[in-house]
Amino acid sequence: MVEQSVTTARVSQRTTSAPRIGVLALQGDVREHFAALMHAGAEPVSVRRLAELESVDALVLPGGESTAISKLLEAFELLEPLRARLRAGMPAFGSCAGMILLASEVLDTRPDAQHLSGIDMTVRRNAFGRQVDSFETDLDFTGLDTPIRAVFIRAPWVERAGAGVEVLATVPSGPFAGRIVAAREGNVLATSFHPEVTGDLRVHDLFVEMVRAAA
Ligand code: GLN
Repeated sequence: MVEQSVTTARVSQRTTSAPRIGVLALQGDVREHFAALMHAGAEPVSVRRLAELESVDALVLPGGESTAISKLLEAFELLEPLRARLRAGMPAFGSCAGMILLASEVLDTRPDAQHLSGIDMTVRRNAFGRQVDSFETDLDFTGLDTPIRAVFIRAPWVERAGAGVEVLATVPSGPFAGRIVAAREGNVLATSFHPEVTGDLRVHDLFVEMVRAAA
């Protein structure tokens, strides 16, 4: 009886405590992810230095400009440590530029841009073209009961998903129907769109759940 209540207390402590989730704060929409993570029950932490990266359970890579973030990752000497943590299984979520950074191959980028190979996928930058710089649509998203409003801003798509990659969402209709815009491999999640800007926090909820499950 005593044994059982001790076990129950331990489990509930683990599931209710807030995971420490870093937001890579070199460039991009860091504040929006901070707010979304807080609402989703996590403790967001700004990550710019190695010690900060080492202190977090998981990391969000925000939207912004992937080539700029790539340069800053090198300048702040975070590139190799971040690759190492991803190889070691740290959960990560990238939106838009963050998705590009998490890819194993990037098309239409600068030759000197770096990426992290967190997901075995080829991503094309600015894939939707100039005419459709930004758009919104409702998407079915695996794991969510109702469609999610997706905001795309000079967004990438996934042109190739590796065998171990779970496709979570595709564009439902129109000229880009079938294009992959959300994917997951292991503990790493990526979306072409920006769930941090809509007020619908279900993707962040899902990520926080992934982080808890990985702990
Ligand atoms: N087009 C940007 C890039 O290539 C991504 C845009 C975004 O994050 N909203 O990095």
